[in-house]
Formats: sequence, C-alpha cells, structure tokens
Amino acid sequence: MKIAMIGTGYVGLVSGVCFSDFGHEVVCVDKDPRKIEMLEAGQVPIYEPGLDTLMHKNVEAGRLSFTLDLASAIDGADAVFIAVGTPTRRGDGHADLTYVMAAAEEIARTAKDYVVIVTKSTVPVGTNRKVKEVVAAANPALDFDVASNPEFLREGAAIDDFMKPDRVVVGVETERAAKVMEDIYRPLYLRDFPIVTTDLESAEMIKYAANAFLATKITFINEIAALCEKVGADVKSVSKGMGMDGRIGNKFLHAGPGYGGSCFPKDTKALARIGQEHATPISIVETVIKVNEEVKRRMIDKLLDLCGGSFNGKTVAVLGVTFKPNTDDMRDAPSLTIVPALVGGGAVVRACDPQGRREGEHLLPGVDWIEDPYAAARGADLLVILTEWNEFRALDLPRLASSMTTPHMADLRNIYDRDDAKNAGFTAYDGIGRGGAG
Ligand code: NAD
Repeated sequence: MKIAMIGTGYVGLVSGVCFSDFGHEVVCVDKDPRKIEMLEAGQVPIYEPGLDTLMHKNVEAGRLSFTLDLASAIDGADAVFIAVGTPTRRGDGHADLTYVMAAAEEIARTAKDYVVIVTKSTVPVGTNRKVKEVVAAANPALDFDVASNPEFLREGAAIDDFMKPDRVVVGVETERAAKVMEDIYRPLYLRDFPIVTTDLESAEMIKYAANAFLATKITFINEIAALCEKVGADVKSVSKGMGMDGRIGNKFLHAGPGYGGSCFPKDTKALARIGQEHATPISIVETVIKVNEEVKRRMIDKLLDLCGGSFNGKTVAVLGVTFKPNTDDMRDAPSLTIVPALVGGGAVVRACDPQGRREGEHLLPGVDWIEDPYAAARGADLLVILTEWNEFRALDLPRLASSMTTPHMADLRNIYDRDDAKNAGFTAYDGIGRGGAG
C-alpha cells in the first residue's frame, strides 16, 4: 500500500514509521520546514524511545521518506492520513479544527485518483462528515471516501502501543474504504489484534469516551487520595486493593499531581463542549475537569506547607517537568502550574529533567536548569519529585538529604516511603494520599 501521512508530530511520525515497518510505502508530510529538514537529515524532532532506530531502518529500506510537498506525497496514495494537531480552541474549550480542515482542503486540491482520506487526529463527532463536505466542495470531480481511525498510542510507549494495540478502531461508510483500511492494518489483523469496524460517528466518539474515562479514573483516585490524607489511609494500599478487582483494573489508579499532557486536558474539554452543544451535558466529565484543576492547586498548598508557609527566598529543586516520563512533551504538564507558583512566590527554582529542558526553557521562565539531581538538591530547602523518570526512582536519599539546607521532600508521585525518607535524614516528607504509614 502507498500511504501519505500529514503531520509528523508524536502521532503522525510514529504512525508513519510503524506503517512503513509493516511494509507499506510511506511519505510523511509536514508544513514545518525545520522538522522536515531534521527528518531528512536522519534526526527525530521528538523524544520517543526506539523511534530513531525504527525510522532509520525503514528509510534505509526505501519505504519511508519525508517532504514538505503534499502533492508529491499523495500522488498515487491509497490512503492519506490526517495526523495534525487539534488543540483546545481559545475561549470555548472546543477542539480547534483549523489544521484538520486546512489539510483536507489541501488534499482536495492535489488528489487526482481515488483515495481514502483518514482522520487520525482526535476530532469531535461529525468532523469526518465535515471533512467529506470540504473535500467534495473543493474538488467535486474527486473520487474519494473518508475514514475515522483514532489513535490510542501513549507517548513514551508509542511504538509498542502502535505495533501491539489493544484494538484498532476504524469508522467507514463504504466497503471500498473498509477494504483499504483492512489492507493497511493487515499485519496486525494477521497477528490477531482486534479491529473494531464501525460508522464514522461511533469511531469518533470511542476516542473521546475512552480518554474521558481514563481521565475520570485518575481524578477519582486523586480525590480518594485527598480523603486518605484526612482519614489516615494510604492511597497506595487503597489503589492496590481496588485494582486487583478485575472489574476495576490497576491501570490509571496511581494518585499524583493531576493529569496533564497533550490529550486528556483537551479531550475532556472538547467532550464536555460537545455535550453542551447537544444539550446533553456530560456532568461527570465537567466535574473531572474542575477537580483536576483543584488537584494541581492542592499540590501548591502541600509545597507551601513544606516551605513553612512561604516560598520567598527558598531554594526548591524540582525533579521532572514533562507530563510523564519517557517523553519531552510539556503540553499541559502539572509543572506548568506548579513551577510558576514557586517562581512567583519568590523561590529560586532548580529544575532537572532528562528530556524536558528544551521545551521547558521556553515555558518555565526564571528557572535554573541543572542536569544532575544531586547538584539540583545541594543547598536546597525542598526537593519536589514531579515526574517519575526512572532516573529519579532510586536516588541515594542519605546523600540528597545531607546536602540540603532543609531536607524536606514532596514526593508527588509516591515513589518513596515516608519511613525510608525519614531514615535517610529527611526531616519532612509528604506524598499523595499517604495519611497512613506510607
Ligand atoms: P503535534 O502537534 O505533535 O503534531 C502535529 C503536526 O502536524 C505538527 O508537526 C504540525 O507542523 C503538522 N501540521 C499541521 N498542519 C499541517 C498541514 N496542513 N500539513 C502538514 N503538516 C501539518 O500533534 P500530536 O501530538 O501528534 O497529535 C496529533 C493528533 O493526534 C491530535 O488530534 C491528538 O489529539 C491526537 N493524539 C495524540 C496523541 C499523543 O499522545 N500525542 C495520542 C493519540 C491521539
């Protein structure tokens, strides 16, 4: 199969590379010349474990290439995937479809033969029909179908998620489009990974419902954690005990500083907005959005307590700024709420993150960037663990504590035990939901 992939971000690049590894001929297009220049030079513009090796392998095999020129990419393509951003529109929470519609118009202007136009971006229900209208209006002679193929990969584990998905969701209207999508995903189908084929609207809805459900699960355990602190329970034991119930499952039950990232915040807002527009408010999701903001604010209160009521003049070492480990993505990361509160309150902030510095330098002004966690903690009044990178999971706690001016720790990912921290010399330790022995 010949595939064009529009957008070489976290989803487009991973999908393009993986499709080429299936044996398809893939051309990835982006309108950002910097990204295409890097890709053509063999450099990966994002941090995603394993992506560079797989990309080089397929470029060398002649199945994968990159271009700024959409027309050449879609010439002869069986399918063209739209994998551009759908950020939150300013003001109303709706998904901004400007990039998707611009891509659809460009496809319409340049496509000549039958092609399936596949939306991989996360888009509100009804968008694929709008794409169809836009393309038909721009090029009435074009023979085409639309398909919805939402993506479920997680940054940091994206290649494995794409190659071994829990399921692939495909929304189509015609047999012809279904056949093209089946051929594209045949390598997965042959290995028994389930493909859910449905109508366009259901495919679009599956993606939002799944993300909103996961955001709800995280927020649920975060609220339980707050109650654990009051009643003397330990949320780690609570989530372990809950998660062993097969009906609940142990994933997405880790209490933390609030969900962030490129998907949950914007997708929950977009789903809430879709509900309001159809006079069917999704109250549970509206509450999740509100509670998640409160969770982030509660983190600031924790840090204030550990700093004796004021950040002014304190030195705070922050370990981790990306929204989760194994990515350089900073979009809607909790650090973007917490670090400015520290800086604004007069703290000297030293940040340390294995991949977050490049983005973080723009997004978090007034922060000193330090490569080594021990150097960041030296002379500090508070150590905050904000992202659970492996590099921060087995730190030498006595070494850290003895080098700090005030050995206080805010473990916002619950990776250490209070007793271990205290035995190592930390005079104050606070985690999330650890009212008990934790
Ligand atoms: P991104 O911002 O990392 O990448 C989007 C890319 O599209 C950018 O490189 C941009 O330059 C390019 N682009 C925009 N308009 C273009 C055009 N007309 N022609 C060519 N290139 C164009 O975005 P992302 O994180 O990859 O997300 C893409 C979509 O996938 C979003 O809808 C998102 O919700 C969804 N999604 C993301 C993830 C994730 O973990 N990041 C997971 C599942 C789904």
